[in-house]
Amino acid sequence: MASSTEGSFPPELLAAKKQIRERARSYGLDFFPVVFEMCDYEQMNQVAAYGGFPQRYPHWRFGAEYERLRKQNLYGLGRVYEMVINNDPCYAYLQESNPLVDQKLVIAHVYAHADFFKNNLWFSQTNRKMVDEMANHATRVRRHIEKQGYDTVEKFLDVCLGLEDLIDPHSPFLNRGPMEQKPHQPQRQEPLPKFKAKEYLDKWMNPPEVLEAEARKLRDQHDKMRHVTPAQPTRDLLSYLLHHARLDDWQVDCLTIVREESYYFAPQAMTKVMNEGWASYWHSTLMTKHFVEARDVIDYADHHSGAVHMPPGNFNPYKIGLLLFRDIEDRWNKGQFGKAYEESDNLGEKQSWDKGLGLGREKIFEVRRVYNDVNFIDEFLTPEFIEKHKFYQYGRDPHTGQLRILSRDPQRIKQAVLYQLTNMGRPFIYVADGNYGNRGELFLAHKHNGVDLEIKFAVETLKGIYRLWQRPVHLQAKIDDEMMLFSYGGDQPKQQTIHDDLPKPAHQVA
Ligand SMILES: [Zn+2]
Repeated sequence: MASSTEGSFPPELLAAKKQIRERARSYGLDFFPVVFEMCDYEQMNQVAAYGGFPQRYPHWRFGAEYERLRKQNLYGLGRVYEMVINNDPCYAYLQESNPLVDQKLVIAHVYAHADFFKNNLWFSQTNRKMVDEMANHATRVRRHIEKQGYDTVEKFLDVCLGLEDLIDPHSPFLNRGPMEQKPHQPQRQEPLPKFKAKEYLDKWMNPPEVLEAEARKLRDQHDKMRHVTPAQPTRDLLSYLLHHARLDDWQVDCLTIVREESYYFAPQAMTKVMNEGWASYWHSTLMTKHFVEARDVIDYADHHSGAVHMPPGNFNPYKIGLLLFRDIEDRWNKGQFGKAYEESDNLGEKQSWDKGLGLGREKIFEVRRVYNDVNFIDEFLTPEFIEKHKFYQYGRDPHTGQLRILSRDPQRIKQAVLYQLTNMGRPFIYVADGNYGNRGELFLAHKHNGVDLEIKFAVETLKGIYRLWQRPVHLQAKIDDEMMLFSYGGDQPKQQTIHDDLPKPAHQVA
């Protein structure tokens, strides 16, 4: 990738970068070193298409993404690009045609992202040498392509990428069951229970044929249990397939790569609102307090509003995140939290409540450390906030096409936002049985969270999984209040209502 690093930065920009970095540190931001690279517009699109990584394995979807970006220019802040990679050091990209004031804004924004990556709990298990790891993945995939042929590997990667969301983003923080620890672990043979007896009595107390029968019974039990996998329902389908599907070594390697990258990106999707809110909070704080000359104010304000402008009815993570961090800071400065405040039903008293605690900064740093979007919104999107910012539910009137308010109910609004954020809007799918009907078939279950699974998604997912499992696969899902079973075994996809004659899976997922 042709881009220039900081050595070739104009001196003014280099000086600004140092100043912003030191200022950011003085506020307590704590980040990995950040390496900035300067790109032209085309290079920027290229880097963005590869998720910001200079080297990734070859696949058509990166080319397609590049075309999409070229045409749509939707990435980041519109024209003011910002891109930063969670890595130690972080890598960030600046677009060379941007005016200095934009570059400063992006630099400040990037330092805050770098702080978020380093300190937010949900990123703590991510690979901080991912730039190297991605390059390593690229080498491995190229090696498989040399042996298996490009088409074979690309087709297989297509299947894996179609399933890449079927992981458990919480699992790096959970103590996982023994099933997921190591593939193909031999079953431990427990010693047979024996009656204690003196040696000469032993063959009467523990006759060999009884011992033998006992041993057989235990072996049978073990065999039975071995097929009852997973030990409990698991959301990490990719791990399950890696351990239990019959795959060639190169296929295992490709699937491992896709799964690893999926886990690497998952925290970014789980903290989009917070991460963008945090970065916007800091670029605006640092810029307005220190770096924007009077002549730049209008220019800066333009771009800034471009980044955080939110038309009614649109959900802009920058805007909502920024406003929430400011609100939290303000509330903790004034002591607007805790029992006495919550229980006050005097609106006037609540509005003018100010205990002068000054805990705001400390609180927002704590919030950025331990929350993800779901509990961030759940805890801090208060009725007062919704009212103050007119954060209502909007919709278009079918007759006039005009935007109108659908709801001002804070509970309903919060539920709608949470729904959008839960599992990043993706369905929860569990592996419920790896030996369904005792036929080596795979049984999956959709956990219903208020919205039906899309049938098209169900069928496409089953087809993908079948390619890896190579035996029939089933997916249970509640559609229109009816429990349905979708099945695919290589020919026509089937669907039927679940009835009593069907075999039960090893685990029930409600
Ligand atoms: Zn950002």
